[in-house]
Amino acid sequence: MYRTHTCGELRLKDSGSRVTLCGWVQRSRDFGGMTFIDLRDRYGITQLVFSMENNADLCNRARELGREFVVSATGVVRERSNKNQKIPTGEIEIVVEEFNVLNNSEIPPFTIEDETDGGEELRMKFRYLDLRRPCLRDNMILRHRMAREVRKYLDSMGFLEIETPVLIKSTPEGARDFVVPSRLQPGTFYALPQSPQTFKQLLMVAGFDRYFQLVRCFRDEDLRSDRQPEFTQIDCEMSFVEQNDILQTFEGLAKHLFREIKGIDIREDFPRMNYADAMSRYGTDKPDLRFGMEIHDITSEVRGKGFAMFDQAEFTGCISAPGCSEYSRKQTDELTEFVRRPQVGASGLVAIKYGVDGTVKSSVEKYYTPEELKAIVEKAAAEPGSLILIMSGRREKTLTALSELRLEMGNRLGLRDRNVFRPLWVTGFPLLEWDEEEKRFFAKHHPFTSPLPEDLPLLETDPAAVRANAYDLVINGTEIGGGSVRIHDSDVQRRMFRALGFTPDEAEAQFGFLINAFRYGAPPHGGIAFGFDRWTALFAGEDSIREVIAFPKNNSGRDIMLDSPAEISAKQLDELMISIRKPAR
Ligand code: ASP
Repeated sequence: MYRTHTCGELRLKDSGSRVTLCGWVQRSRDFGGMTFIDLRDRYGITQLVFSMENNADLCNRARELGREFVVSATGVVRERSNKNQKIPTGEIEIVVEEFNVLNNSEIPPFTIEDETDGGEELRMKFRYLDLRRPCLRDNMILRHRMAREVRKYLDSMGFLEIETPVLIKSTPEGARDFVVPSRLQPGTFYALPQSPQTFKQLLMVAGFDRYFQLVRCFRDEDLRSDRQPEFTQIDCEMSFVEQNDILQTFEGLAKHLFREIKGIDIREDFPRMNYADAMSRYGTDKPDLRFGMEIHDITSEVRGKGFAMFDQAEFTGCISAPGCSEYSRKQTDELTEFVRRPQVGASGLVAIKYGVDGTVKSSVEKYYTPEELKAIVEKAAAEPGSLILIMSGRREKTLTALSELRLEMGNRLGLRDRNVFRPLWVTGFPLLEWDEEEKRFFAKHHPFTSPLPEDLPLLETDPAAVRANAYDLVINGTEIGGGSVRIHDSDVQRRMFRALGFTPDEAEAQFGFLINAFRYGAPPHGGIAFGFDRWTALFAGEDSIREVIAFPKNNSGRDIMLDSPAEISAKQLDELMISIRKPAR
C-alpha cells in the first residue's frame, strides 16, 4: 500500500500513530534547523516536519524537494505547537522518518492556490494543474454530488435513465448544428444533438413514461460566460401529465437539490409569473427576484409637455433606486455611460432625485411643473430618498435596457447576494417569434411545443399572439431550465408546421420519423431540460460555467490544452472525400 491515510484525514486523536501519506509538495519552508513541507492531495493538506537534529541527512534531502514533486512520507503524528485553525488537519504534523520521491515536477507555470497568478489562458493550457487548486477541486466535487442527487431524486420518482445517440440528424432547438462527416457514405453528415428532444419524445411513444438523462448537448452558437459549445443537460420527459404535474415534479427536484446541496429547506411553492408580466415588470423573461426595483410605465405621465425625447417615444419607463437620491453628477454620468454601452444600447438616461425631505429635482425640471414631477414619482412608486432613472424609446428595447440598468443598480446596492436564492417559474411564453430577416415565424422553444389550448384558434389568424404551454425555471436571474407540454395530436402538429412556413414535404423530410411515430399512439406528454453546468455554477457561486467544467473551451470555442479544433491530415480528408476551400478573408 502506498499510503495509510490521505492528507485531509489526520487529527489530534491520531497523535502517536505511525502513518504514510502521499501527495504533492504545495510549499516548503526552511528555518535552518527545521524544514516544513505542506503535502497536498485531493482531500487536504498535512504538514510534514524534518529536523536537522533528528536526521540531518533526511532534512537535507527534504530541502531539495521542489513544488509539485510527488512524495510519499512515513512518520509519526504529533501535536503541533503552532496550530493552524484554518485547516482541519491544522492541529497536527508528521515527524518524518523516511520519504520517497515518487516523481519530480517541473516548476509549475502558476501558483497552485485559490488566489493564483495564472491568467485564464495559461490555466486552460495547463488545466490538469489548474484542477489541483482547491476551488476547482471543490467545484468538481460539488458537480459530482449534484449529479448524484439528481439521479437519486429522479430514480425515487420512477424515472429511468436512458441513453440516446450522439451521431444523429439535425435537431429542432434552433441553434446551428455541429456536424460530423460520414466516411461510409461520403458527402453525408451526422449532426450532433442540440438536445435529445426528439428521442425523449420517441421514448414516450415507446411507453417508458418517465425518462431522464444527464446528457451532453452540442450547439454551435456564439459563446458567453454561461455558454459552451458542449454542455450538459438534465433532460427529462413524462407521459400522461399536464403542465402543473411537470412543474410540481421538478420543483421537487429543485427543492431536493437546495436541501441536499445547499442545506436550504424551501417549504413554500415557487412563485409563478406570466411571461407578459415578467417583461413589463422586469424587462426580461428571467427576472432576478432577490430585489424589487420594478419597472414602471410612465409613458402617459411624461408625454405632451414639450420634452421631445419623451413626446416622441413609444414607451417611457423607469426604475427607482432606493437610497440613491444624493448621487453626484459623476455617479449619474457613470450610469449614463453604462446604458450607452453597446450591450445595453440606450441613447441616454434622465434622472429625478426624490429627496428624503420629499423634494423633487431633475434636469428636465423646466418641462414639468413640481406637481407633474410628483405625479411621475408617484407612478414610479418611489420612496423618499430614491433616484428615479428614466429611459425611453421603442418599448421592447427600452424594457431590455431598463432591465440591464436594474441589475447594475442591484449590484451597486449589494442586493444580489450569492447566498440568497429566489427561484421562479415563468410561464405563458409566446409560441412563435417573428424573424425580420427571414420574414417568417420561428418556434420560440421548438416546433413540438404545444400552444395553450385556449389560444389554438389564433394559430392561423394571429400567430404572434399564441401563447405556448411552456415554462422556464429561473433562479436569481439565470434561466436554469425550460420545457413544455408537447403536441401529441398530428393535426395540431401539421398546423404548427404550417405556421412555421414548412411545406408538408419539408416537415416530412426533417421530422418524418417523429411524425410517423405519432401515428402509432403517442401519449400526452411533456418535459423539461435543465442546464446542469449553469445550475452547478449557481450553487458554486461562480459567474462562469467554465469554473464547473473539468475541461472547458475558451471564449472562441477552442480547447487551448489540446489545441483544438485543428486541421486533419490529407489522408483523413481523402477518406471523407472532403476538400477544403480556403476561407475568404
Ligand atoms: N429540448 C429542450 C431544450 O433543450 C428542453 C425541453 O423542451 O425539454 O431546451
